[in-house]
Amino acid sequence: MWIVHGAPAFDDNYIWIISEKNGRAAVVDPGDAGPVINYMQAHGLKVVTILITHKHYDHVGGIADLRRWYPDARVYGPANESISGIDVKLKDGTRVDIPGMAFSPEVIDMPGHTEGHIGYYCAPALFCGDTLFACGCGRVFSGSFAQLHDSLNRICELPDNTHVYCAHEYTLDNIGFAKWVEPGNSELLKREQQVIRERQQGLATVPSRLAVEKATNPFIRTDMDEVRLAAEKYADIALNTTQQVFTTLRKWKDREYD
Ligand code: ZN
Ligand code: FE
Repeated sequence: MWIVHGAPAFDDNYIWIISEKNGRAAVVDPGDAGPVINYMQAHGLKVVTILITHKHYDHVGGIADLRRWYPDARVYGPANESISGIDVKLKDGTRVDIPGMAFSPEVIDMPGHTEGHIGYYCAPALFCGDTLFACGCGRVFSGSFAQLHDSLNRICELPDNTHVYCAHEYTLDNIGFAKWVEPGNSELLKREQQVIRERQQGLATVPSRLAVEKATNPFIRTDMDEVRLAAEKYADIALNTTQQVFTTLRKWKDREYD
């Protein structure tokens, strides 16, 4: 059995550490080595694998230092992005076998935030980097809106009880925009109260459940009338496809919200 710990890094990143009783650990997106090394030392663990979702500095910045501390660790990353320090480039559908660990995630392509972004799925956990966030989604940087829309659709095909381990604590901020889109969504308002309580107690609001995202996250609710109508009102044109609704929401949030 493996357990997951979120090590906070920078202002609002989580570095996910998956560990087993035998002391082996895999690390997802170590933007900074310090929090990882501290956790390893406090719990008698050793990094054997580093899994990278995409090329941004806050996800890869700790690779070089971790390689020095754990010279045996293998570093995996996306095939379609050039990242220094990667040993194995991963394609969609590949299973990552980690010696001595039961944790063996499968690679899911999820471009959009960046052109080569990948996620790691080992039921019930999905490590999705900056693709799906709690109540939001990543910005489109070097990928396309169509790609990100397709990638979110793909994530939604996973089981409803999937645990969504995204890479940032953005939930409360994201809920603010979600309320612009769906001010009358009672599940969303309930979620806001819960998230406020959790943050007041200093708790992380991730991982979330995919079912909760489906009920409250406007970026994966583009087929709902209320979401489409809100996007149409902002764009002041009729939107005929979920991809158009998605693109409108993403640009609306970028331009007007944050
Ligand atoms: Zn990023
Ligand atoms: Fe990030």
